[in-house]
Amino acid sequence: MESEVRRLNRYTTFFIRNSINRNTFDLLAKNMTRLFGTNGVRGVVNEDMTSELALKLGKAIGSYYSKSKDRPKIAIGTDARISNSMLKSACISGLLSVGCDVVDLGILPTPTLQYAVKEKDYDAGVIITASHNPPQFNGIKVIDLDGTELAKEQEEEIEKIYFSESYRKVAWDKVGSLSRWDGAIDLYIDAILSKVDVDSIKRANLHVVLDCGNGAGAVVAPELLRRLGCKLTMINCELDGLFRGRPSEPIPENLEELMKKVKEVGADLGVAQDGDADRAIFVDEKGNYVFGDQSFTLLAKYIVREKKGIVVTPVSTSSALEEVVKSEGGDVIYTRVGSPIVARVMKKVNAVFGGEENGGLIFPEHQYCRDSAMTIAKMLELLAKEKRPLSEMISELPRYELIKIKLHCPNDKKDKVLSMIKERVKKESEVKKVDETDGIKIYTEEGWVLVRPSGTEPIFRIFAESRDRDKAERLVEKYKELLEEMVRVA
Ligand code: MG
Repeated sequence: MESEVRRLNRYTTFFIRNSINRNTFDLLAKNMTRLFGTNGVRGVVNEDMTSELALKLGKAIGSYYSKSKDRPKIAIGTDARISNSMLKSACISGLLSVGCDVVDLGILPTPTLQYAVKEKDYDAGVIITASHNPPQFNGIKVIDLDGTELAKEQEEEIEKIYFSESYRKVAWDKVGSLSRWDGAIDLYIDAILSKVDVDSIKRANLHVVLDCGNGAGAVVAPELLRRLGCKLTMINCELDGLFRGRPSEPIPENLEELMKKVKEVGADLGVAQDGDADRAIFVDEKGNYVFGDQSFTLLAKYIVREKKGIVVTPVSTSSALEEVVKSEGGDVIYTRVGSPIVARVMKKVNAVFGGEENGGLIFPEHQYCRDSAMTIAKMLELLAKEKRPLSEMISELPRYELIKIKLHCPNDKKDKVLSMIKERVKKESEVKKVDETDGIKIYTEEGWVLVRPSGTEPIFRIFAESRDRDKAERLVEKYKELLEEMVRVA
């Protein structure tokens, strides 16, 4: 990954060449690092995420796509946040002004827009969403022609146009037109139904408690579950831009109501989505939270049993996945952290499955992006075919203890600290193997520890995993102390 420093240096050269004064540059440089993060452009509405930014970003995105086509057709959609109309209108205006035609797909999950961009004749897509962030946040993410998220280099091209304001200029009679299309949700639901065994799921007569968290999933998931013949109990399935039902991130502390409800009504399964419905988290029939790497591993087991082949995931995922995939005759390829990277590698190696430990799973027969509705349909198919409770299937998976902590480190010290830790590890006798795909992953007899600098925040993340809790704790402690020392002297 290109370091923040190198990126800034490139912009320094650029701005000095264009004789912009130093103060303006400092101001821009401050904002610059914030423009495209791991998940598009995000910020607090009317502070960082303003209508001006949405307008200029619309112009930049439109100018970028105009390089390969004279009159690009761009699909745009939003999640359910209250700032969506404000940002969408500004972004549309920017796109139209540089000669793009825009099609408004309305409120919909991110993967629903991605599917429409892949299947229809759109040249790109824009989704206004801040995923699981609190309601005061919003964001803008760009989707490429094939429905995948942009590569880093493409985002940098757009940033370059944005910061240099080198937008495409079009004459008055070449500005774009705006239309609306309401078919994206049906197109998407039909596609999912064509990729699972609907009859088996219907016959199983499953009772599902669905918690959309007031997010965009509410326009898809209830309809999908009805069409799969499920008995449905719904909580937080109304669109609400203030997320009054529960905070949007599907972590255990936010899903207490769902866990209670599953037990109370005797359902087979509970399901929760995040704000833009690319991630799904499950609750078993006993009301227990199922962690994202457990549902990932469970689905991988059955997919690999049937199709063999490769599963792709970031280096931060539990070893349980690799153990299960290998025992079913498949293999795992590890990538850097970030779902667009996972998706790209999956495409390249023709993987049968992939995803992240946070409940964001990618089914290549459907599309190369995280997709909660597809994840739900596949989980129901598994329950229907196995005819066993989810808790029983989860209990058969290998057990590992994974500990995650973070440690403060100024951005300008990250590179130095990382190379120091890499040097230091060479002297450690307990180290069996190291993997430098993302940060450094150190394998020992007791388990592994991953030390990686965050791409967006001034922190290092330390993950340690072992079959034994004490051993995972020892590993995390040891590397935390080493790292603290290095941050001090770097
Ligand atoms: Mg999301």
